[in-house]
Amino acid sequence: MTIDRRRFLTSTGTALVAGAMTGQHAWSQQSAPATGEDFVIETVTGPLDPAEVDWALAHEHLHGDFSGSNPRMWRSLPEGEEEPVYGDLDWTVVTGAAINAVNEVKAYGVNLIVDYSPSGVGRNSRMLREVSRRTGVAIVAASGLYRTAWGIPAELADYDSDQLAAHFVRELTQGTEGTSIRAGFIKLSVGNDGPLPHDEVVYRGAARASNETGSTIGIHAIMPDAFRAAARILEDEQLDFSRFIWAHAGRDGTVDFEVFREFADRGVYISFDGVTHRGTPTDEQLLDLIGQFLEADLGHRILISADATIAAHPPAAQYASDIRYPYRFFKPQLEERHGGEVARMILRDNVVQAYRRGDRIG
Ligand SMILES: [Zn+2]
Repeated sequence: MTIDRRRFLTSTGTALVAGAMTGQHAWSQQSAPATGEDFVIETVTGPLDPAEVDWALAHEHLHGDFSGSNPRMWRSLPEGEEEPVYGDLDWTVVTGAAINAVNEVKAYGVNLIVDYSPSGVGRNSRMLREVSRRTGVAIVAASGLYRTAWGIPAELADYDSDQLAAHFVRELTQGTEGTSIRAGFIKLSVGNDGPLPHDEVVYRGAARASNETGSTIGIHAIMPDAFRAAARILEDEQLDFSRFIWAHAGRDGTVDFEVFREFADRGVYISFDGVTHRGTPTDEQLLDLIGQFLEADLGHRILISADATIAAHPPAAQYASDIRYPYRFFKPQLEERHGGEVARMILRDNVVQAYRRGDRIG
């Protein structure tokens, strides 16, 4: 399934006919999808009919820039090497690496990838669009901000919650980085010790943007207590928890189902996105946990991904997660243990549901 075969729908579910569009974007007249998925996914090449999605990756980074951020990420910077400058790198190399990686997962049938790098940690919408066009794999870009300790872009540093909300809404409804490329969801992050004061300013802005657009918020939260503290702030803003994703669930080694059930019961998607070589939880632990979700009738709340960063800046910040792992190694185990329907629900259906475009975006 390549991008030029996708159907691009309007908000009413009726397809646009764009005779002038040729090449990659052969628009065709189609009615609403017959899958019961009466919504679209906002990608860097435009709205996508979920009926076109075969398999998906819920949380990856084609590029991550850690140079404005916590020096622990590149503590191994070689002696004498110059300090990296945010965004100052060879984009041809980054784009090529991303294209290669995307083509590798495309070989497993993946044709939708959610990219989790917001501005401040490397989002480059034009690069994502280029990679999508060259591979035929749809990519969802992130609005939102990474946490305070990791660098907020200077132009946003003084924004209050309402100003940030307006900024996020613009990115979700109009475009990012001076382009018409829309973001498809809002990324946030909380440190292991919980939210810092400025994080709360960002969370409140994100919740208000979500309330206005209906867009999903995904938050990086390794420690359950930190997630709880962040969730309380979002709850205080009346965030719709069915539009909320706990990214990095279980990454601290937590395998107690009740910790996840507390939130899954309330509609939150639980994203086990450390599925890679020597990942946490282990494959066996995760397969057991999935069994518990299924028994509790909460299988539709699980997301799975590798959380790989394909091209990290500086290179010393590169880590080893394998973007191929969820399909190459985990999916066969998932199918054997829980069946093909469950694999399809977790690796495809849940992803398109979790990241569907905001209900109030036209
Ligand atoms: Zn991530």
